[in-house]
Amino acid sequence: VAQNLLKAAVAANANNEALQRNLETTEQEAQQLRSELEKQRRESITDALTGLLNRRGMEVEMTHVFNTTQEVPAALLVLDIDHFKKVNDQYGHPVGDRVIKSLAKMIRQRVRKSDVVGRYGGEEFAVVLHGATLDDAHRIMNRIRQDFSHVYHSYEDGIFSSSFSCGISGYPAFDDPNVIAAKADAALYEAKRAGRNNVQLFGRQISGK
Ligand code: GH3
Ligand code: MG
Ligand code: MG
Repeated sequence: VAQNLLKAAVAANANNEALQRNLETTEQEAQQLRSELEKQRRESITDALTGLLNRRGMEVEMTHVFNTTQEVPAALLVLDIDHFKKVNDQYGHPVGDRVIKSLAKMIRQRVRKSDVVGRYGGEEFAVVLHGATLDDAHRIMNRIRQDFSHVYHSYEDGIFSSSFSCGISGYPAFDDPNVIAAKADAALYEAKRAGRNNVQLFGRQISGK
C-alpha cells in the first residue's frame, strides 16, 4: 500500500510540474499576444512618414480633449503646406516628403509633450494645444510659421524654402467638436485666401505675411 501511495505521489508531482510548465508557456504566449496587440494598436494610429498621430489617432484624441476638458481652454490648429504641388513638381516627391517631415519635427519640438500633433492628410496637419487660449495658440503657431518659412530645404541643384498656412479655433469660443473643426477649417481657408504663409483665427485675421 505504501509503495502504491508513493508511486501515486510521484506521478502526481510529475503531473503538477507538467501543468506548471504548461501554464508558464501559456502565460508567455499571452504576454507575447498582448505586446503584439499593443504594437498593432500603436501602428494603427501612427503616421509612418512622420511618426505623428495619423488621422484616426487624431480624431480619437480630439474627441477626447474637446469632450472632456470643460474647465480649461483648448485650441485646435489646422495647417496646410502652401503650394505643395509645386514643391513636388519642381523638386520631386522624395524632397516633398522631407519637407513634410521637417515641419512635423519642428511642430513636435515646439509644443508640449502633452499636446496632440497629427498628420491629417498628405501635407495637412492638426494640433491640439491643451490649456492654451486662442491668443496663446496664435502666438505659438505664428512663431513656428515664421521660423519654418526661413528653413532652407535642399534638393539636387540647390535650396528652397516653403511655408504653411494655419487656421485656429477652439474651446470655449465653441464647444461642439464638429463646430470647432469646421471653424478651424474656415479660418485655414481664409489664411490661404489672404495670401498664404499666414495664421488666421476664426472670424478675424491676426497675422499677415
Ligand atoms: P495650397 O497652397 O492651396 O494648399 O496648394 P497645394 O499645392 O498645397 O494644394 P493641394 O492641397 O491641392 O496639394 C497637395 C499636394 O500634396 C497634392 C499631392 O501631390 C501632395 N501630397 C500629398 N501627400 C503627399 C506625400 O505624402 N508626399 C508628398 N511628397 N506629396 C504629397
Ligand atoms: Mg492640402
Ligand atoms: Mg497645400
